[in-house]
Amino acid sequence: MLILVSDAFDPGLPDKLAKFGEVTDDKGRIPEAEVILIRSKTKVTKEYIDGAPKLKLVIRGGVGLDNVDLEYAKEKGIIVHNTAAASSIAVAELAFALMIALPNHISRADQSMHAGEWLKKELKRTELYKKTLGVIGIGRIGAELAVRALAFGMKVIAYDPYVKEHEHAEMRADIKEVLKEADYVSMHLPLTDETKGMINKDLIQHFKDGAYLINTGRGKTVVEEDVVEALKSGKLAGFGNDVWYSDPPESTPLTDAPNVIMTPHIGASTKENLLRIGDIIEELIGEYVKNK
Ligand code: NAD
Repeated sequence: MLILVSDAFDPGLPDKLAKFGEVTDDKGRIPEAEVILIRSKTKVTKEYIDGAPKLKLVIRGGVGLDNVDLEYAKEKGIIVHNTAAASSIAVAELAFALMIALPNHISRADQSMHAGEWLKKELKRTELYKKTLGVIGIGRIGAELAVRALAFGMKVIAYDPYVKEHEHAEMRADIKEVLKEADYVSMHLPLTDETKGMINKDLIQHFKDGAYLINTGRGKTVVEEDVVEALKSGKLAGFGNDVWYSDPPESTPLTDAPNVIMTPHIGASTKENLLRIGDIIEELIGEYVKNK
């Protein structure tokens, strides 16, 4: 059995999997691969699947499966798994880091010090304490963020049409109810027909003036041009963004917008998470081999 490691995983993973068969990172061997391990970079499209006649199992290290043609994989009898639970803490910590960095001007303060400037008077901070966090999509990651926000003395409200009640957040039935109340809005949505372009010009009108937006879910749930306009007008005080229309983005208006902190889709990229993902992959391949 050939296992193709197609994206970046913990360097110890090939050794861990060697007991199941040959492990390679040579993408020229896609036609021979029975198991392919991907993260977000490899796109398992119809064409990709057609070029992998021996493929039986795809494991996506991480959560979002929008880079896999699930319907076609099913048609071809290919099993697709993700490692959904592994990444929650890693992504929640990055969302929290962005939520702290924005009102504390960490990025601008650092850049100005490197440039030999002293912006002590200009850089006025605000606190998270007693502010309201609005979580959009309170699944695994949103819930981890809520717990951390509560520990900082924040109030947590959330919108998620598929969750009626939550132990860490007051639910609101309408997203506008969250937006009008929240000082920070953090997005934790999968990319679906319903969520694509969700944060757009029309909805941004309903945000509290001077709110902060954070997106560590999926880039296309936010219309970048509309967010840039809101940042320029001051409607939004800042935007912390880890996720993009493509990885890396071909071009994005965010690079020239004020008060933006950008990270290159590193939400899941902690050392601990990659180890957790490796453990889950080992289990999943073990199960697959057992049931063969
Ligand atoms: P999850 O499935 O546990 O949570 C997603 C939540 O979104 C669910 O509770 C669901 O009900 C809700 N939801 C779905 N449609 C909605 C809608 N229209 N409006 C409001 N809520 C809606 O998933 P998770 O593990 O919390 O991950 C969330 C997302 O984070 C993933 O889908 C993925 O896109 C993203 N992610 C990003 C990174 C990163 O590196 N930045 C890493 C992992 C996951």
